[in-house]
Amino acid sequence: MTTSATRATTPGRRGWTGLLGVAVTGAALVAGGLAPAAAAPAPAAPAAPASASGPAPAAARQTEKNAVAFGTGGAVASVDPEATEAGLRVLRAGGNAVDAAVATAAALGVTEPYSAGVGGGGYLVHYDARTRRVATLDGRETAPAGAGPDTFLDDAGKPYTFAQLVTSGRSVGVPGTPATWEEALDRWGTLSLRQALRPAVRIARRGFVVDETFHRQTVENQTRFRDISTTADLFLPDGDAPAVGSVFRNPDLAATYEALGREGADVLYRGRIGRDIARTVQDPPTAVGAALPVPAGTLARADLARYRVLRQAPTRVRYRGLDVWGMAPSSSGGTTVGEALNILGTQRLAGMDDEQVLHHYLDASALAFADRTAYVGDPAFVDVPTRTLLSRRFARTRACLVDPVRALPTPTPPGDLDARGCRTAPPAGAEGAGTSTTHLVTADRWGDVVSYTLTIEQTGGSGIVVPGRGFLLNNELTDFTTAYDPDDPNRIEPGKRPRSSMAPTIVTRRGRPVLALGSPGGSTIITTVLQTLVNRVDLGLTLPEAVAAPRASHRNNATVSAEQAFIDRYGPALSAVGYTFTPSGAAGTSAAEIGAVTALEFFPRGRVQAVAEPVRRGGGDAGVVRPRSR
Ligand code: GLU
Repeated sequence: MTTSATRATTPGRRGWTGLLGVAVTGAALVAGGLAPAAAAPAPAAPAAPASASGPAPAAARQTEKNAVAFGTGGAVASVDPEATEAGLRVLRAGGNAVDAAVATAAALGVTEPYSAGVGGGGYLVHYDARTRRVATLDGRETAPAGAGPDTFLDDAGKPYTFAQLVTSGRSVGVPGTPATWEEALDRWGTLSLRQALRPAVRIARRGFVVDETFHRQTVENQTRFRDISTTADLFLPDGDAPAVGSVFRNPDLAATYEALGREGADVLYRGRIGRDIARTVQDPPTAVGAALPVPAGTLARADLARYRVLRQAPTRVRYRGLDVWGMAPSSSGGTTVGEALNILGTQRLAGMDDEQVLHHYLDASALAFADRTAYVGDPAFVDVPTRTLLSRRFARTRACLVDPVRALPTPTPPGDLDARGCRTAPPAGAEGAGTSTTHLVTADRWGDVVSYTLTIEQTGGSGIVVPGRGFLLNNELTDFTTAYDPDDPNRIEPGKRPRSSMAPTIVTRRGRPVLALGSPGGSTIITTVLQTLVNRVDLGLTLPEAVAAPRASHRNNATVSAEQAFIDRYGPALSAVGYTFTPSGAAGTSAAEIGAVTALEFFPRGRVQAVAEPVRRGGGDAGVVRPRSR
């Protein structure tokens, strides 16, 4: 398979005037430092892989990756070349951005089964070129009717440890992803669910080549996967993680997708797949001799039947002449990225050196996180002050706490919603980060755009594969505050959506898209999206540079977690003003990386640059329908 993507080399910096569309002509692009993209040689067909379960035609498998592509006719970026190719195929055949997004997401359910799939949920942001409107879908999981203050306690009333909850039926929420796909296609798509799932069915059946990331994620989950018989059967063939280069097939998932295509999402919400989900949650297929307790959950068929995807108004803030659109609660993505941008918007960052800009980025993020923790939950259950959190007045009361030459002492308390001056409210608790999830972006020839983040929560979700169905159930309910507190906006309640950090984002200028981006990474999603915007808009990096740059994530903890490359580069200067950095994870592990961005940047005359990570998560894959040099 040869994806017709181009690899752009992007030396030098480019100011944000380009992003604002002030002088974006072909000549200006070159003059502004974006060198013409060189056409990449057509990637060679991968060598026939050594297959655990018998070879399939190697040429049918997409393993070549491009971090950057430039061209017209539409674009896709995801973490995986098979998934990107599935989306591009749909676009080439005349499908639109939503058709491509569903095809890409479904393919990710096959090739990235530990990050996303029909057992999970997500949030989708859509830009409609015809109406120039941004709309969103909240496909977050919900807590079952049986959930309550004792959900995270054992029979003796003692709290389960977080590790015990992670691999349990107790943490499984009602999946939102199948309903999201169906709703997105009904509302904006041109394909049926069956057509959109077809490329993924093919990949599941013929198999994909196991890469380093899939292998490593399996190994990292091996101990708990062994404790669940269905999961061990699927993901540990012969008792071990599939070898790099072998072919992994998932015929059960192909059949699940076919059933969804034939019968619609109802087969999961009201039909036999739902029956299997409820049974599995209530009686997890724990292996003989399992070390983990694998507590059962209460999720029932009635919970599935009640599930609804929500059409939510997007969040919107103005930032340096741009409109930044994001996901409203139940995700905290839009309000937290938005509040931080509003805080940054009170400062003139132009002309500051990189370290000063990053100092402002870190403090804005810490302040916005304090408010997120104190005020954001599912708005169907708690009063979320979304308007205030996104108001410029509130941002000014927070921005005045930023000292230009000293790091903000953290944890810092949340802001007083009624304040006019620099006042704060009593402190609230802090919270950890996950590392899973996946983000994809698509655009079509008509100018429609999708920014979509989906997840099953942790890498490997609950660790529980539904028997015979080929997919893992989420453990999203661990995103509630697990120590029950009746005053916490993110306490667990029946039917409630746990607070998310997912932040699929679209940026427009005068009603036209200029950027689309998002990332996985638990609560670091928010800072990754924010930092990528700051890198692009304020530091003037090109989009590929903005994505590749080393990351730091300040979530209002005492220390700032940062990639080693960030610490090496900015640590000395930023420590001098009072920040303490801790490496985001042990070198060589997936935890060492913060986020995995995919993004698009739009240029006049339908040209688009698609960007994925060059290195993190083994690198992502960006492609366009018609590659062009600039
Ligand atoms: N469940 C997390 C959230 O919604 C995402 C998990 C992750 O990215 O690790 O915020």
